[in-house]
Formats: sequence, structure tokens, C-alpha cells
Amino acid sequence: MEKIEIYDTTLRDGEQTPGLNFNLWDKLKIAKQLEKLHVDVIEAGFPISSEGEFAAVKAIAQELREPVVAAMARVAKADIDACWEAIRYAERPRIHLFLATSDIHLEHKLNKSRDEILAMIAEGLRYAGRYTSELQFTAEDASRTDKDFLCRAFATAIEAGAKTVNIADTVGYALPEEFGALFRYCIENTPGAERVVFGAHCHNDLGLAVANTLIAVENGARHVEATMNGLGERAGNAALEEIVMALRTRFPEWEGALSVHPREIYRSSRLISRVTGVPIPPNKPVVGSNAFAHESGIHQAAVLRDSRTYEVIDSRDLGYSGEHLVFGKHSGRSGLAAWSKSLGYDLSQEQLDALFPLFKALADRKNEVHDEDVEVLIEDLLNRTPEKWKLDYIHISTGSTLIPTATVRLRTEEGSLEAAATGDGPINAIFAALEKATGITGVLHHYALDAITGGKDALGQASVRVESGGNIYSGRGYSTDILEASALAYLSALNKAAIDSVQAG
Ligand code: MN
Repeated sequence: MEKIEIYDTTLRDGEQTPGLNFNLWDKLKIAKQLEKLHVDVIEAGFPISSEGEFAAVKAIAQELREPVVAAMARVAKADIDACWEAIRYAERPRIHLFLATSDIHLEHKLNKSRDEILAMIAEGLRYAGRYTSELQFTAEDASRTDKDFLCRAFATAIEAGAKTVNIADTVGYALPEEFGALFRYCIENTPGAERVVFGAHCHNDLGLAVANTLIAVENGARHVEATMNGLGERAGNAALEEIVMALRTRFPEWEGALSVHPREIYRSSRLISRVTGVPIPPNKPVVGSNAFAHESGIHQAAVLRDSRTYEVIDSRDLGYSGEHLVFGKHSGRSGLAAWSKSLGYDLSQEQLDALFPLFKALADRKNEVHDEDVEVLIEDLLNRTPEKWKLDYIHISTGSTLIPTATVRLRTEEGSLEAAATGDGPINAIFAALEKATGITGVLHHYALDAITGGKDALGQASVRVESGGNIYSGRGYSTDILEASALAYLSALNKAAIDSVQAG
């Protein structure tokens, strides 16, 4: 049976979400989860764009064994060299070249003629072909490109070694019917089309990214590009979880063509939201918190009798248990081991020993510990970012007639240090005290507080994005105390900034 290749670009196009900036650990954490989700290809990044990006792509290529690891490059030698240097250690590396083909981009961005564009495509692919035969070419802004020129561009790419050619609706302009017709036209009119896979790359500016992707598949696309949670530039990319579930729900004949494990969808979505600090809208299809919630009493009664009355997807297929296991402080080590296993984590005895006290400490502060709480603890444990400073304690005095004052004590390998500061609110005071203690200053770009689970004693998650030394660092912290969660989040961002400054120096 023909395959539909699922090409995840959360780490490349998804990273182009405004305000988002992954570091190496964020990228590795997400890449490992995408490997569990079993996508066919992970586009790890754009190696020429910065040293940090290069290092992150290289780490992913070295670490992952199952999926194809792709990275992006313009059709320029320096880009292609950097791209190959970063991905060459992968089991199955792929170079992804792109160049715009629409007149509007030729005239206003590239300042090139059509013939020059064709020559650049041929030259770029030939050069990349010295490194690998796994080559993919994207025609950027293809949906606004003259159809016959698009076919010539693809024919040139195929002739020069491309195995996958990609029709990009870069600006989210296409309508489903015309996008489907464009695939048919290109597949019928491109010399060499039978030797390659055609792919779709859709953006969501008009809310049509998933619809356009589906109609592309109906018209011959066998490679689809998507991001988890629909992350991406502007209104985002086609959402991977929506494409997969739409194909499974409405095109059962394609079920065997997909490698993705739907049971990892829910977990992947939440992990990516936590790492990015970009919340999942409650009404987001497939993964939003309301996606399987029913308000109307008539609906509720019907769903209880048979969920198919008002639900077209079985939420259990997504790895969403619905009923949460609830454990408390009297649950023992073996209970925790079984629980971790049920969540899909195969922990070693050592890891369980490290997890147990964290779990106990949480259970002491929270009556009921839920699946999501334990996931957060495990992921934090498995993917610990190196830390220069650890938080010993915070002390805050605040009130409507007091100047908020925070004292923090941090532990380092050399001993502990303490600092106090005031602020116009308690969180502000904490951040100022942390900056004083670490000697690193930053500008706060984003701060958000979320509850991981429901209830008054919910585990709170604080996420921050901090600019320091020209870079942006994200940080997260978890605690049942929101001030402590905020302190941990800010400190984790400062820890990342400290590591970077050591590497730079
Ligand atoms: Mn894009």
C-alpha cells in the first residue's frame, strides 16, 4: 500500500511562531516525543540560522534513530554545507531545499528572472546531491505561482535529484478546490512526476490549512507537512493532530498508510504546549480541553448512553484516559511504578528512586495527584536542563499596604547565596531578587500561569520568556504555590542564559 508520509515541522516552521525560541533542550525534548508519536520525518531546524540552531539540529540527528531527520537550507552552498554538517550523523538524513517561484516573490524579494530561478534550483540540488540522495525541494509560494512555471521548476528539481517536491501554500491563500486541482495539474504535467513524491505544506491564514492538506491527499499528495497544535508563523501551519484524525475518521481506506501512533497525540500536544508556553485554545479541534466536553444536558445524556451520538472521535484513541487515576500520599513505590508504566514511561529503578521523593512531596501538598501531575514530574526528571543555581527557598512579604519584598536563597556548587529586593508586586519582587542573586538581568517578554489539573490544590505551571544578552530563554516552573512556580520558572530561564554565556565566553 502507498504511504502518506507525515513530515513534522514543529521544530522548524513551528518555531517561527512569533515570540517562540527553542533552545537545544527544548528541541531534544520535543523531538524525542515526536519519535514516540512515530512521525515519518522530523524537520529539526534551519542550521545556518544560528550556532545554537546548528547545535540543536546536530544533537537531534545524533540522538534519534527511527525517523528521517531533515533540515532546511536555501539553495546556497553555505546553507547546504551547514545543513549537511548538522544532519550527517542521522540514521536517515534528508536535505530540504526551498526557493520561491511566484512572480511576486521573484520580483519583490529575490529580484531574479524565471530562468535564473531554474538555474539556482538545478545548481542547489546538484550541490546537495554530493552529500546525499535524500533530497526534498519546496517551491515557496507555489499556490500563487504560474502553474506552468511551477511544473518547470519541479521538472528541474527532479532532473537534479529531488525525490520529494513540495507545493507550499506559504501564505495560506489557496482554496481547497483550486489547491486540489493544482496537485492534479502538477502531477499530470511535470516531466518525471512519476519518479517522485508530491507533498503539501499549508498555512492557516484563512483557516483552510487542514482542508487544503486533505484535498491535496485526495489529489495525489503522499507527503504532508504539519506542526503539532498548528504552531507556526502568523496563523500557523496545518495541525498534525487534525490531519491524522481527519484521515483516520473519514478515510478509513488510508489507515494502513499512516505510521503515526494516535495514542501519543494527546501527550505530544500537552508536552509541546508546556515547553513552548503557548496554550492550547479550549476549543482547539482534537486536543482542546473542550473537544470532548458537552454542555447541553440533552447531549450529555446521549453521550453517556453512546458517545457516538455527539463525538466523531473516540478520545481514548488519542491517549486521553478521561478517567484519571487518583493517587494520594499513601500510594507506595510499586503503585508509582505501575502508574508510570500506564503513562507510557519505562523507568529504571534509579529513575523511580529519584522520582519517588518528588512524588511524595507533591502528594503531601496536594490531596489528589493526577496523570498530568505525574507526567510533569517524570518529564522534568528525564529532561533536566543543566542548572547552575537551584532554589533553596523564597520568602515573600506582601499585602495591600506593604511594599512587596522577596528574599531568595539559591544553592550552587560553591555554596549558597541570598538576595532580597522589592517590586511593585510580589512576582516582580521575586524576579528582581533572582536577578540580584544570579547577577543576570533580563527583560520579561511573556509571563503566564496555568493550572495543570483542576481543583483548589491544582499544580500550577508558570511559564516565562526572558530576553537576556540578545537571546530569548523560556523557563517553566511547577508548584502548588504559584509564587514558587513563578520563581522556579524565572530561575530556569536565568540558568539557561548562564549556560549560554559560558559557552559564548
Ligand atoms: Mn511554512
